[in-house]
Amino acid sequence: MLVAIKVDVDTEIGTRIGVPNLAKLFLELKIPATFYLSLGPDNTGRAIKRIFRRGFLQKVSRTNVAGNYGIRTLLNGVLLPGPHIGKKHFKLLQNLKTQGFEVGIHAYDHVYWQNNVMKLSQEKIDQEFKKATLEFKRIFNLDPVTAASPGWQANAKTLKTYQDAGIIFASDCRGEIPFFPKIADEIFTTLQIPTTLPTLDELLGLPEFPAEKLTTHYLELMTREINVLTIHAELEGMKYLAWFKEFIKTILENKFTCENLGTIAKNFLAHPNTIPVCELIQGEIPGRSGKLAVQNISA
Ligand SMILES: [Zn+2]
Repeated sequence: MLVAIKVDVDTEIGTRIGVPNLAKLFLELKIPATFYLSLGPDNTGRAIKRIFRRGFLQKVSRTNVAGNYGIRTLLNGVLLPGPHIGKKHFKLLQNLKTQGFEVGIHAYDHVYWQNNVMKLSQEKIDQEFKKATLEFKRIFNLDPVTAASPGWQANAKTLKTYQDAGIIFASDCRGEIPFFPKIADEIFTTLQIPTTLPTLDELLGLPEFPAEKLTTHYLELMTREINVLTIHAELEGMKYLAWFKEFIKTILENKFTCENLGTIAKNFLAHPNTIPVCELIQGEIPGRSGKLAVQNISA
C-alpha cells in the first residue's frame, strides 16, 4: 500500500521553519514528498476576519490557532506588511527542489485565494494564478506541472485556470481515488489526486483522539491502495514535528511505501482510459468549517 505525503505551506513562518524541518526528516527517512508552496505575500493576519465567521471561534479554541501559528503570523498583513515569501526565501525554496523534492503551487496569496476564490471571476482567478506561476518560474526556472488549492477551494473556474496553465495534476479536493473532475457537463483534463485522510488539525482536540491515539487512528483509516495525507508545514513541520516523525516511522514499519504525487500521477496518466471521471462537488468535512471541494464517488 502506498502513502503520498502532500505538504501544504501556507505562511512565511511555515516556509522558514517548517519546510527545512520536514525536508530534513524526509531526507533522513528517504521519503519522497510533494511540497505545495505559497509564493507571494503572507497576509495570514487577514484570517483574523474569519473569527467572525460561524464555527471559527470554536475551531480556534479547539485547535489553539494562536499557539500553533504564533501571534506574529496572525498579524501579518494586518498591522505588519505581509512578507513576500518567494522573495524572502528564494534560496530556501530552490534548495528544496535541489534536494530532490517535488514542488508545486499552493498559492500566490494563500489567504486571498482561500477567502475569495469562490466568488472571483475567471479573469481574476487567471490573474492570481499567473502571479503564482511567474514566481514559481522565477524561483525554479521551470514551468509548474502541479497545484493544490488553499483550503480545498476549487470550482469550474479554478479547474479551467489550471487546465489553461498546463497543470498536469492537482490535489484540490477530498475524496477516495484519482480521477478526472467533471462539473456540470465539462470534464477537465487535469488529473485530480484527492486527499483521502483527515488532516491533523481536523482531528486535534477531539476527545476521542488524544495525541497518543492519533497514529493508530490514521493506520485504521489507511486502507486504500493509495492513501494521500495532507500535512501543514506550520503544524507537522513545527509544533507536531516529534509526533509526525514517530508517525512516519510507524507507517514505514507497517510496510507502507511512500511515493510523491508526481509518481502516482505518472502511473495513472500512462493509462488514461482507466481513470474514472467523477463529479467535483462542494461538501463538508468533519472538523473543518465551510464548504470545500469533494469528489462525488457515486457519479
Ligand atoms: Zn494551505
